[in-house]
Amino acid sequence: MYAQIFEHQIKVIKSEGRYREFVPILRVAENLPYAIDRNNRIITLWCINDYLGMSCHKNVISVAKDALHASGVGSGGTRNIGGNNKILLELENNLADLHDKEKALVFTSGYVSNDATLTSMSKIMPNMIYFSDEMNHASIINGIRNAQVPKYVYKHNDIASLESLLRQVPLDIPKMIVFESVYSMDGLISPINQIVSLAKRYNALTYIDEVHSVGLYGNRGAGIANSMGVANDIDIIQGTLAKAYGAIGGYIASTNLLIDVVRSTAPGFIFTTSLPPMIAAAANASIQHLKTSEVERLRHQNRVTILKNALDKANIKYFKNNSHIIPIIIGDPILTKTISEKLFKEHSIYLQHINYPTVSRGSERLRITITPYHTDKMIADLICALQSVFTELGIQSVEAA
Ligand code: PLP
Repeated sequence: MYAQIFEHQIKVIKSEGRYREFVPILRVAENLPYAIDRNNRIITLWCINDYLGMSCHKNVISVAKDALHASGVGSGGTRNIGGNNKILLELENNLADLHDKEKALVFTSGYVSNDATLTSMSKIMPNMIYFSDEMNHASIINGIRNAQVPKYVYKHNDIASLESLLRQVPLDIPKMIVFESVYSMDGLISPINQIVSLAKRYNALTYIDEVHSVGLYGNRGAGIANSMGVANDIDIIQGTLAKAYGAIGGYIASTNLLIDVVRSTAPGFIFTTSLPPMIAAAANASIQHLKTSEVERLRHQNRVTILKNALDKANIKYFKNNSHIIPIIIGDPILTKTISEKLFKEHSIYLQHINYPTVSRGSERLRITITPYHTDKMIADLICALQSVFTELGIQSVEAA
């Protein structure tokens, strides 16, 4: 009976054209953005979130190696019992300094940091209400759902919508506005200034997910809120160690008091094994490097501009934004998957199709990401490959969503 139920579900997913297959690839640390596929072909990666290639940075690898040999593979337990390590405290100090906050708290992933923190808020403030952007990430949605308190969902990046909802709640009821700085699938940047002003007016706390911006934007890589000069007005900054910092893990940065109360109540913090010391050490080295080096950020921005210009020149439409994320909306799951497969098989380009539930149905897309290590030649090859596949599949001109 159970096998039938499971098979049925897979059939449904396949019939909707959104069945995902893992493509076995092996990244080449010395030669990012190259990877090797199962036939030993060299392929070029065009959809990794290791935006600055820091996972392969020589010093980051060397620090991870040293920590591995010094402290072993795993951390040995939860933070409160066997899994604390001084490197985790150093990492948290580094993050607090990066965001100019009193304290930071590290979790095992960005997903967990959102889920755990937002879940814990209702334990701390049982009568609170969430105000959440409708395009927020699944980890935010989950955390808010797990909190089991009322939530108002406002229209994407829509200040009037947010204000009309805030107005409905008395000033003395605890509230939190939860939003992202860069939305990962469209690459749109949120109106942080205006959200902060509303939060002040309506006595709300602010929680910003900077997962796709830390390391990439702002002074020392402190993110978009920092670059807009409003980071000090944000109550909780959340980020990841897995994207621009090239490791794994997530965190929040805030006041001593808030971190203390989350640390003491969040199930996703209390009941899981902490990050391995080698990861904490690697992330720490990566953050430290990106605090002082502008080289990777500048080169990354340069590559983004060159690629966007090349797409414009080739008349390949993409969703316009002011960030590094370059979405090409196809709007059909099977067609998007076919494009990805052809790019891979015929052009050695790894650009995975993005389908529901990662994006809404009808907005299936290719989401191009570039690193500082993509060359002009790689960009030219990508453009040629896209043109060739689009022509073959009769995709004349892809509309932006
Ligand atoms: N928040 C946003 C906006 C994301 O896009 C993601 C992952 O892509 C996460 C949180 C989760 O971060 P992590 O991959 O570190 O778990």
